[in-house]
Amino acid sequence: MNNNRNKYKNIAVLGGGESGTGAALLASKHGINVFVSDAGKIKPNFKETLIRHKISFEEDGHQLSRILDADLIIKSPGIPDTANIIAQTAMIPKISEIEFASWFTDAKLIGITGSNGKTTTTLLTGYLLSKGGINVCVAGNVGKSFAGQLAESDHDIFVLELSSFQLDGTIDFKVDIAVITNITPDHLDRYQYDFNKYAQSKMRITLNQDSNDALVYCADDPETVNQIELHQPLAKKYPFSLHPIAGNDGAFVQNEKIYFNIQNNNTTMTLEELALQGKHNTYNSLAAGVSAKLLHIRGETLKQCLSDYQNIAHRLEFVANVHGVSYFNDSKATNVNSTWYALESFDRPIIWIAGGIDKGNDYTSLIPLIKKKVKAIICMGADNTKLHQVFAEHVEIITDVSSAEQAVAVASFLAAKNDIVLLSPSCASFDLFENFEMRGNRFKAAVKRL
Ligand code: ADP
Repeated sequence: MNNNRNKYKNIAVLGGGESGTGAALLASKHGINVFVSDAGKIKPNFKETLIRHKISFEEDGHQLSRILDADLIIKSPGIPDTANIIAQTAMIPKISEIEFASWFTDAKLIGITGSNGKTTTTLLTGYLLSKGGINVCVAGNVGKSFAGQLAESDHDIFVLELSSFQLDGTIDFKVDIAVITNITPDHLDRYQYDFNKYAQSKMRITLNQDSNDALVYCADDPETVNQIELHQPLAKKYPFSLHPIAGNDGAFVQNEKIYFNIQNNNTTMTLEELALQGKHNTYNSLAAGVSAKLLHIRGETLKQCLSDYQNIAHRLEFVANVHGVSYFNDSKATNVNSTWYALESFDRPIIWIAGGIDKGNDYTSLIPLIKKKVKAIICMGADNTKLHQVFAEHVEIITDVSSAEQAVAVASFLAAKNDIVLLSPSCASFDLFENFEMRGNRFKAAVKRL
């Protein structure tokens, strides 16, 4: 275990959400003085947890003197580096909750990052390993925070979903298997609208790896390949691709068949057998399969699990067929690339419901698909100006709504038999909804009422 765990006696945690509360619990469990400070309100369930564990906290503002007493600050991923409190405490070392948690376990770590597909790949990997009989736990950006989970119980292997914000605050953090699903523009508002800065933060996942570790990555994604060339990671590389990649350990597709080739131990199955359909999901299955094979999951178990896995909601989720029109909920598509894969996966006319909070989107890559497949765009955001500017000349109908219910009503009016109605916003949800789950649930409920 890492020596740092005994180095700090007084920790301040900035942010009292899932990761901040988790970090505080872990610190307190190990006898470290800890104080949680949040500039806004702390949710009631986290407050109750802090009170139950006698952890002191404040909300609605930071008491600077108290934070300046700390010898280490754990910063929640939601707090941008530009926040005042970061400059005011510049002299105190800062780490992320992921870095802190990693000091307290000897478990093998699989870290999964990327712009899209993290949650799907993480949960699928967890499923493959648990079915393979491993004492595994999924944590990080999905479910419980890594620290919160460790405060409760340790495991042999952790599969961690890692966002770029979580990776930004890492120093010694090292994973045995790093997975990069892809790197495409997202969250540029937090990276000074500089794609390269965002990409570099994703690459932190492999920064501390050595030649005994593995880096699993999408060989078809130009930016990932570019970053790997730039950074020359020390880890052994395991590419996955939808095209043959002879001579390399990894996974690829040829003639509708998938080949997992790891250390002379090969498993094959057909594309058709995969439970998660669509190109993007094939990538996710390849990534999870390579990780599972690296951990010696049997070929038969791997095939069985990849063909019976049930995906989670809001990811290109089929909702219902009403009067011959198929409705799909892809509310989790909060950037352009995820919508690209959604549009790409249908070969019937699409009525596309888009919009929300734009995080610096460049919609250019969608234009050919819009021209070819989309018959109407329904803009569902507080400000739809940009969507109109980009798409008005490429589509026959473009119209505005201000709720999921209105969107479904307009879509069902415009749709003809065999059409697809697709909610795939390319944007964050916070203008009209609390989160992407609420957006998807409201859409699904409205469809069910048709
Ligand atoms: P993340 O956790 O990275 O946001 P999710 O698995 O939750 O990823 O999927 C988010 C969105 O991206 C969904 O709309 C989903 O259909 C789409 N998606 C999933 N995997 C991929 C992929 N490998 N490439 C592009 N889009 C993807």
